[in-house]
Amino acid sequence: MRGYSAVLVERADLGQGTTGRFHGLLHSGGRYVVSDPLSATECASENAILTRIQAGAIETTGGYFLTCPGDDPAFADKFLAGAAATGVAAQEVNVAEALRNEPRLNPGILRAIEVADGTVDGWQLVWGAAHSASAYGAEILTYHHVTKIETADGKVTAVRCTDLKSGEDVVVECSFVLNCAGPWAGQIAAMAGARPVEVVPGRGIMIAMNHRLVNRVVNRCIYPADGDILVPAHTVSIIGTTDVKVDDPDDLAIENGEVQQLLDAGEVLVPGFRTSRALHAWAGARPLIKDDRVAASDTRHMSRGMAVIDHTDRDGLDGLLTIGGGKLTTYRLMAEHIVDAMCEKLGEHRACRTADEAIPGSESGRTHRVSDRLAEREEDRFDEQIICECELMSRKMFTDALADQPKGSFDDLRRQLRLGMGPCQGGFCSMRATGIALEAGHIDIERANGLLRLFLKNRWIGLWPILYGDQVRQTALDNWIFQGTLDVEHLPHPDSEVTR
Ligand SMILES: Cc1cc2nc3c(=O)[nH]c(=O)nc-3n(C[C@H](O)[C@H](O)[C@H](O)COP(=O)(O)OP(=O)(O)OC[C@H]3O[C@@H](n4cnc5c(N)ncnc54)[C@H](O)[C@@H]3O)c2cc1C
Repeated sequence: MRGYSAVLVERADLGQGTTGRFHGLLHSGGRYVVSDPLSATECASENAILTRIQAGAIETTGGYFLTCPGDDPAFADKFLAGAAATGVAAQEVNVAEALRNEPRLNPGILRAIEVADGTVDGWQLVWGAAHSASAYGAEILTYHHVTKIETADGKVTAVRCTDLKSGEDVVVECSFVLNCAGPWAGQIAAMAGARPVEVVPGRGIMIAMNHRLVNRVVNRCIYPADGDILVPAHTVSIIGTTDVKVDDPDDLAIENGEVQQLLDAGEVLVPGFRTSRALHAWAGARPLIKDDRVAASDTRHMSRGMAVIDHTDRDGLDGLLTIGGGKLTTYRLMAEHIVDAMCEKLGEHRACRTADEAIPGSESGRTHRVSDRLAEREEDRFDEQIICECELMSRKMFTDALADQPKGSFDDLRRQLRLGMGPCQGGFCSMRATGIALEAGHIDIERANGLLRLFLKNRWIGLWPILYGDQVRQTALDNWIFQGTLDVEHLPHPDSEVTR
């Protein structure tokens, strides 16, 4: 938008890093009014901007901060004072009113504060921004793994990467690199020979529960802790998160203890939480910048604030800026800051317009409610097959997406269509999708088998940590279908495993 020629290089699909592995909360700022006032103010203002410029990716659910039995009721006073000081809209409401609006909430809650929390679909948010950038001339290279940043005479000259689909080496010549690699930012800076950038990955896990147990975001009104937020997203509710320092953002194992901790925490907000069905668990790593005020292992209390690192002064390297910290809610502001910093270094003034110009095609916020999707399916039910009943994905939605992305994996399509994200976790829809992909002629039979196996393998990673109750029966049924009837393990598939 500022007229620079730009190339985005991403080693996987868009939004497959932290942005696809987060909690889905569009922060009102409430979470940080006591613990991190600057982040609170940034979240409040970005919440309003994103809701205006990317409405299609956001559901304006509203939210509550609740004093639950056992929580200190006086924290709500600190919260209200913090909200007033940081510009976060918040007002205390009658507990009876909160319970009427959200009947599943703990009837023992003592205080309720209403805020402007919302929910955000990270993939839609990112694609919206990417499509807009493309329309302004940006080139987007997905599945391109950066391996080196070339420099000469103390200046960045090129980025070297591998095209993971073709195996070819690709060199992108450039005079500036903006390192926005989240928890991998330290690795990218090292590829340019910079001194270590201390990004401390803070692993958090989340669990999606079948159904919307609540229609607003509900938070405990306490100092930020584990499992204190429940977010209604599309057809599910997501409980999260934990926060544990890890060394490698690519190694995010989900521990059983953390799963139990989240399920217990869910019980505090919504009694009977454990009796609802857990569908899927996942983990992401927060790209936190090391904060000298807290211990290196205490990622929960490191600031969520953003920081731009200028490698000229620090490493004697021109043409490289790194950004870290922040939230998905503040992603636009992060982009504004780092591009402002680049303009300053280039000695040019080019004003940022991202807060004013809506992302094209992002006007409607309808996609999040199941009832809206049902209404859409009612319109085409005589001529459109439903392929994924849980998420109401039609045949045409699938074939259109496949035609757009013939080399895409089923997971790439899932991120756009929510294929296999409902209770059966792909048990019924993934084999239909495989047959349709084959019939549509986009792939041959061996690749079809390979894609199906990869999809099932990836679903399994998020399933096994939360297997209990109905989901065990579902998984046994799926296993009979795939192994007992289709013998998926032994279907002919490409010599090299399909990995993406
Ligand atoms: C558990 C958890 C819950 C969260 N919940 C929320 C929430 O509810 N609301 C909110 O606003 N924020 C939330 N956050 C924070 C938010 O998700 C992150 O701050 C944000 O998504 C980070 O975006 P990013 O673009 O900086 O990083 P990423 O999304 O991780 O993007 C970095 C990209 O770099 C790519 N990459 C890495 N190495 C290479 C390479 N060598 N070559 C090419 N590409 C490479 C990765 O594939 C990745 O896609 C949460 C974070 C976590 C971990």
